[in-house]
Amino acid sequence: MQPMQVQLPDEHTHVAFGETLGRLLQGRGRLYLHGDLGAGKTTLTRGILRAYGHRGAVKSPTYTLIEPYALAGKRVYHLDLYRLGDPEELEFIGGRDVFADDALCVVEWPSRGAGWLPPADINLTLEVAEPGRRARLASATPRGAALLAALFEN
Ligand code: ADP
Ligand code: MG
Repeated sequence: MQPMQVQLPDEHTHVAFGETLGRLLQGRGRLYLHGDLGAGKTTLTRGILRAYGHRGAVKSPTYTLIEPYALAGKRVYHLDLYRLGDPEELEFIGGRDVFADDALCVVEWPSRGAGWLPPADINLTLEVAEPGRRARLASATPRGAALLAALFEN
């Protein structure tokens, strides 16, 4: 089996890969984005949202923590937990409803919600790798494993 990683040499490729992931997920499941500030998590999310018809910028939910989108009959939640003080805070900002919804949840800084967040279907880690970024992907559910097998089969 090939290693589940891709080199994203520039921002255009990065957004295009996000769009591929967005189509793959079909508006359902949990994709957790790991990586330092500036690694490209929000840029990837822009591509994911583009798969459902969202054009242009993505508001970083740095203070609201959760940004909901209704696109092409799908619901997508973009979470940025960087400023989450404690995983239990997710309770008070509507996290339970978000993760109970039959929707796609894209989470930046999932480590801030560790212990509260349900397991990801796919964990994706971004790091700076010249030129650009490298994305490493791993599944944590049967659906995630099937999705990654389809993504990397050729
Ligand atoms: P994060 O959300 O992880 O903090 P951002 O998505 O805001 O990071 O990206 C930070 C910067 O990295 C942006 O200026 C973006 O243009 C740039 N960037 C994103 N992906 C790539 C890439 N593959 N190659 C080069 N620059 C990139
Ligand atoms: Mg970000």
